[in-house]
Amino acid sequence: MKKMISLIAPAYQEEAVARTAYGRMRDALALLPYEYEMIFVDDGSRDDTMSVLREIAREDEHVKVLSFSRNFGHQLAVTAGMDAAKGDALVIIDMDLQDPPEVILQMVEAWEDGADIVYGKRIRREGETLFKKLTAHCYYRVLDKLSAYPIPPDTGDFRLLDRKVAEHFLSMREHDRFLRGMSAWMGYVAVPVEYVRAPRAAGETKYSFKKMLNLAVDGILGFSDAPLLWPFWMGCGVCALSFAGFVALLICALTCGAAGWLWAFCALVLLGGLILVGMGVMGAYIARILHEAKGRPLYIVKEKINIGG
Ligand code: UDP
Ligand code: MG
Repeated sequence: MKKMISLIAPAYQEEAVARTAYGRMRDALALLPYEYEMIFVDDGSRDDTMSVLREIAREDEHVKVLSFSRNFGHQLAVTAGMDAAKGDALVIIDMDLQDPPEVILQMVEAWEDGADIVYGKRIRREGETLFKKLTAHCYYRVLDKLSAYPIPPDTGDFRLLDRKVAEHFLSMREHDRFLRGMSAWMGYVAVPVEYVRAPRAAGETKYSFKKMLNLAVDGILGFSDAPLLWPFWMGCGVCALSFAGFVALLICALTCGAAGWLWAFCALVLLGGLILVGMGVMGAYIARILHEAKGRPLYIVKEKINIGG
């Protein structure tokens, strides 16, 4: 039986671009020697996106559509599409043609060569504001520094996942999802395919500043415990400072005398430091609760030899 590629594209208020996007995605997929399905997830659009998708689905049986009752957000729309996908490889792509569908052909080639995850790496971004480029550039680098797992910079959610990887991925049901971080957490061989990020084909960005900030926070909080532990290290620093103060005061008191309020000041600094240390210790426990609450698999086995099942 022929293998199948599932394309998953989330769409929120994309009436202006949905039909063009569908056309270019279909043309790219039709070049492949595989079966394919296209899953469009309408993320609670209030414009005519759904009517366009309904029409496309009527004309083309490769097209499947899911429609959310309200706007749940891009990351959940992608997840719903992945839940519904039947393919041997799943390709996640934006609906606005910023991720050129033709790049899918290179991704599939890398997949055929054995890659489990193929991610699109943006070598250039066209048609985006300087603000977006600058914030994205800085954010990716901060995230990479903070994250416990390397998250390749300048990559979005445009990627291909092999079926077995997608299954593991879908076993992670955490609510605050940051797909590219989860993809990094899983390990596996991830291969980049470089591409130039095109300008939006039509319409405006659906990622408001607030949504982008939320996603950025999800990325850092979901993949780094560091912020929870910062108070501990700050507290240690403050305590050390106050100890140094006490020593200096003691020397002064023995030689030339020290004012009483300086002792009180040092005691206050020490108290502040101890409170911070306490908060850091609580942070360490909260980090553990967080890990448990996420309920991720404990580990992922890539291959079994002489072990049944
Ligand atoms: N999107 C979505 N739900 C949202 C916001 C965006 O499904 O709440 C979709 C959107 O239709 C597009 C993709 O996510 O297919 C990326 O959004 P957009 O292009 O607006 O973001 P940008 O590329 O500007 O970061
Ligand atoms: Mg876009």
